[in-house]
Amino acid sequence: MQERKSENLFEEVSFCEECGICCQGIFYSKAMLGVDELNMAQELNLQVDAVEQGFAFHLPCPQYSLNGCMTYRRRPRACALFQCELLSRFRNGDIIVEQAFLLITQIKLLIGQAKLKLDSDIGRFFWSAHSGKRDIP
Ligand code: SF4
Ligand code: SF4
Repeated sequence: MQERKSENLFEEVSFCEECGICCQGIFYSKAMLGVDELNMAQELNLQVDAVEQGFAFHLPCPQYSLNGCMTYRRRPRACALFQCELLSRFRNGDIIVEQAFLLITQIKLLIGQAKLKLDSDIGRFFWSAHSGKRDIP
């Protein structure tokens, strides 16, 4: 039983490390920081703001890379405590790790497609705005 738990934890760490969707500022623009984490935040180059409830750092996080969190073993508490629906379902045993990885891959694909679409829409907008202003002889 104990063995299964640690295996679960290992799987959970590996797919959170692989995923990092919650680090990219797509769903949240900030994450909370404790006063005792301000030094660490500075060392990690996090952009910190004073907010109503204390302190928060900006997302997307500079510690996020395509390979996941670069400081996973030493990340803010808010990151360690955050539990998305996928993680919650995994912890409850509603999905297995392979399904979690598949969903992460699918979500990343959708995010990539949405970004491409947004880039091209913004590009089109600027192009037409620019064209509109041009004096065409
Ligand atoms: S908590 Fe959820 S969104 Fe964040 S890294 Fe883990 S699986 Fe991805
Ligand atoms: S410190 Fe790591 S886990 Fe936390 S937001 Fe940044 S990349 Fe994500």
